[in-house]
Amino acid sequence: MIRKRRTRIVATLGPASRGRKMVRALAEAGVDVFRLNFSHGAHEDHARALADVRAAEAAIGRPLAALADLQGPKFRLGAFAHGNVDIAPGQRIRLDLDPKPGDRRRVQLPHPEVFQVLRPGMDLLLDDGKVRLRVIEAASGSAEAEVTAGETLSDHKGLAVPGVTIPVPALTQKDEADVDFALRIGVDWVALSFVQHAADVAALRKIVGDRAAILAKIEKPAAINDLEAILDVSDGLMVARGDLGVELAPEEVPVLQKVIVRAARRRGAPVIVATQMLESMISSPAPTRAEASDVAGGVYEGADALMLSAESAAGAYPREAVAMMDAIIRRVEADPNWPNLMRAEHGRDADEDVDALIAAAGAASQARSTGCLVAYTTTGGTARRVARERPVLPVLALAPNEMVARRLGLVWGLEPRVASQPRGIAAMTDEAAHLAAELGLAGSGERVLIIAGPPMGAPGAANLLRITHAPRAKG
Ligand code: PGA
Ligand code: MN
Repeated sequence: MIRKRRTRIVATLGPASRGRKMVRALAEAGVDVFRLNFSHGAHEDHARALADVRAAEAAIGRPLAALADLQGPKFRLGAFAHGNVDIAPGQRIRLDLDPKPGDRRRVQLPHPEVFQVLRPGMDLLLDDGKVRLRVIEAASGSAEAEVTAGETLSDHKGLAVPGVTIPVPALTQKDEADVDFALRIGVDWVALSFVQHAADVAALRKIVGDRAAILAKIEKPAAINDLEAILDVSDGLMVARGDLGVELAPEEVPVLQKVIVRAARRRGAPVIVATQMLESMISSPAPTRAEASDVAGGVYEGADALMLSAESAAGAYPREAVAMMDAIIRRVEADPNWPNLMRAEHGRDADEDVDALIAAAGAASQARSTGCLVAYTTTGGTARRVARERPVLPVLALAPNEMVARRLGLVWGLEPRVASQPRGIAAMTDEAAHLAAELGLAGSGERVLIIAGPPMGAPGAANLLRITHAPRAKG
């Protein structure tokens, strides 16, 4: 099953997308990466979801990646006695550490670190900015605040203190337990929320090692100032527009999206654009025109992947949302101007042999007689480097094991498959040509360009560009 698009789709699993049949249907509709959101759900739910993803993968015959998204140091209110309360501007509400269920007058905020930094006059944003409070009095362990905007609050809504760095470790105790569990069940990617600087990612790397690839979620203003250092220690980025738009003004978000996508693309690190992409499809079978344009914009920017959150996790139309995203991506990629836009952004010129090889293959891939590129990749590095140049043709990425193939499922334009690493150049040439033909990536007699780094199976820079042809159909 070969996808007819280069931009990848990430879909979040949740109550609306449970069960083997549903997960398979989403994969068939076009999902490349399934996100297990550890901010919600029990460990058993995620284990079952992952088993469903592996079953779907076996059924559809192409690698699917699983991404565990860690909640990170997100601050949340406690619970209310009746699930929610009506509030009104002008009224006061008290925040404290008492776990007793809240009401209109007070509610728990179970984060002593937050009370440490609160001062009178500071603004608090709750529920993604839908509710605003101004601090009137602050003590250690409690605060009095006035509601300045909003109408309702409910259990466990998020809280942000704009512009203030709160002294918390990058991984909470919950995150440590979650990452441990996620690695045990065998996810392919781990995402870290609320990264503030590179050291946060480094702390996660210490735990993860090489058992999974790491994605840094860019959703704090501080992370923008440390982007290059964060890229040094991450395998990919997410433009987490939901939380990014809480602390920053709406007009900043599209600009930062472009900054983050460009920075990741220069490095050849996969980048996901996330949140509210088809938001109205949570409750409607069709998106708004603005949402369709937003998805198209992500494709035109050359993002590796676009993400569905509540649309697939908790909405009424999960399958329709995936199908709609797939349709918009394919339509944009059929725009005759799109390949030129993709080529406008290049990797940082490293002037290594592998870059020269890839440049040659990229130029040759524009010839009509070429069917596809084939990249033999031991660690995934060579394949990512090819994808970084956004070649017009599909790239068959042949990895030595499932772990590498699955991770590559997030990367623009790669069609990853597990293949044994052939001995010798003749065997490799033959195998690549046959696989390309078998998968329908190269037509009868079409040119196949192979990038590899013999000796095969050993990690190291690609140093060989081989031209062969797909076998000619008989008759
Ligand atoms: P979340 O991250 O869905 O885990 O909050 C994405 C975002 O903030 O946009
Ligand atoms: Mn977030």
